[in-house]
Amino acid sequence: MKAYDVIIVGAGSVGLPTALFLGEAGLRVLVIDELASPGQGQNKSAIGGVRATHSDPAKIQICQLSLDIFGSWHDKYGDDIHFQRGGYSFPVYSEQDEVSLKELLKVQKRYGLNIDYLQTDELLKLLPGLNPDGLRGGTYSPDDGNVSPLLAARAFYRQAIRVGVEFAFEEKVIGLTRKEQGSVEVETTKATYSAGKILNAAGASAKEVGRLMGVDLPVEPDCHEGGVTEPVRRFFNPLVVDIRQFPGSKNFYFYQEQGGHIIFCLTPDPIIPGFSRNSTSVFLPQAARRLINLFPRLRNIRVRRTWRGLYPMTPDGVPIVDTVDDTGTLYVAVGLCGQGLMLGPGLAKNIVSLMTTGRPLIPEDIFASFSLYRDFTRPAELLK
Ligand SMILES: Cc1cc2nc3c(=O)[nH]c(=O)nc-3n(C[C@H](O)[C@H](O)[C@H](O)COP(=O)(O)OP(=O)(O)OC[C@H]3O[C@@H](n4cnc5c(N)ncnc54)[C@H](O)[C@@H]3O)c2cc1C
Repeated sequence: MKAYDVIIVGAGSVGLPTALFLGEAGLRVLVIDELASPGQGQNKSAIGGVRATHSDPAKIQICQLSLDIFGSWHDKYGDDIHFQRGGYSFPVYSEQDEVSLKELLKVQKRYGLNIDYLQTDELLKLLPGLNPDGLRGGTYSPDDGNVSPLLAARAFYRQAIRVGVEFAFEEKVIGLTRKEQGSVEVETTKATYSAGKILNAAGASAKEVGRLMGVDLPVEPDCHEGGVTEPVRRFFNPLVVDIRQFPGSKNFYFYQEQGGHIIFCLTPDPIIPGFSRNSTSVFLPQAARRLINLFPRLRNIRVRRTWRGLYPMTPDGVPIVDTVDDTGTLYVAVGLCGQGLMLGPGLAKNIVSLMTTGRPLIPEDIFASFSLYRDFTRPAELLK
C-alpha cells in the first residue's frame, strides 16, 4: 500500500492549489479524483470572477490572498492564466441598495479593501453604455479581477506535478478507515492508500465524503447556469454585479474577458436544489433580458453556449475549513458556495499552515468564521 503525508479527495478549485502548496512545502501528496482530469468538477463551471468584496471578514482576507496569488502567478510560475485586475462594480438603482452597500463599505474598508462608492457620472465613465435610467452610482473595487478557471486549474496541476504531487484520476473514494497510529486508510474503486492526513475537498459531493469520515457536513448543492457570447471589442473592465431582484432571478453578473467574450451568470429565484446539470429553457431568456436591461448596446450580441453547474452551499454562505474533532488527521475544505475559484488559493495557503503548524495564516479569531462547529443559523453572508 502506498503511503503519503496527505491525501486530498478532489482535484478542484481548492484541492488543486492545496496540493501544489503542500508539495512546495515538501510533503508527499496524492490527489484522488473520480473524474478523468483536473478541474472537471465545478471548477470548470465558474465564470472566472475573483473578488475580495465580501461582507464576511474571513472571506475578505482569504480572497485578498487569492488575488495576490493569481496576480503574481505569471511572474512566479510563468503560466498565462488570463488574470486581469479589472475590478468589480455593483451599480445601484434603488435607495435601499445604496444604503446597504454604503453600510457594507465601512466593514470592507476596515479590512483593507480598496473600494469606493462612485457617483453616477463616474460610474458611466467606467461602464460606458450602462443604462442611466434610475442609476444612483455604485461601488467600484479596482483590485478585484477575473481569471480563466480552466487555465488556472491546468496551471495548479502542472506546477503540482513539477513539485512531485501524485494524481489518481478515475478513482472514486469509497471508504476511509482511521488507524490507531494516527493515520487513515483510503479505499478507492481501484486501490487502497494510506496517509497521515486526509482533506475532503470533494465540492458538491462533500457530504457523501463527509459520511465516510464520520461527520455530517451541512453542504447541499444547488444549480446555476452560465453563458458566453461571441467576442466584441473590449469596452469595459470590471465584473458587473446587478443585485436587483427580477422575476425568476436574483443577482446577475458578467464581465468581458481578455478575448472580448462576455461571460455571464445569474442566481435563480427560487434556488434550484439538487445535482442536475441539464441546461434549462428559462436561463437564457432571463439572462438576455437582464444583460440588455443594463447594457442596451448589447442587444444584437449572439450567445455562443450556456452550461449548468453546482454551488456547494452551506446554510450561511461561508465555507467550512477545519480539522474534524481536532484530530489533526481529518480535514475539510468544503461548502465553497458560488466562490470556490476565488477562495481556493487563499484557503489553500491557510490549509497548508493548519496542517503544518496547527494555525491558519490569517488571524485565528477571523478564521474561526470557517469553523465546522460554528452556529450555522447565524445571519448569512450578504454577498454570497
Ligand atoms: C455557473 C457557475 C458560475 C460560477 N462562477 C464563479 C466565479 O465567477 N467565481 C468563483 O469563485 N466561483 C464561481 N462558481 C463556483 C465555483 O465553481 C465552485 O465554488 C467551486 O468550483 C467549488 O470548488 P470545490 O473545489 O469545492 O469543488 P470542485 O471544483 O467541484 O472539486 C471537487 C472535486 O472532487 C471530486 N470528487 C467528489 N467526490 C469524490 C469522490 N468520492 N472520490 C473522488 N473524487 C471526488 C469531483 O470529481 C471534483 O473534481 C461558479 C459556479 C457555477 C455553477
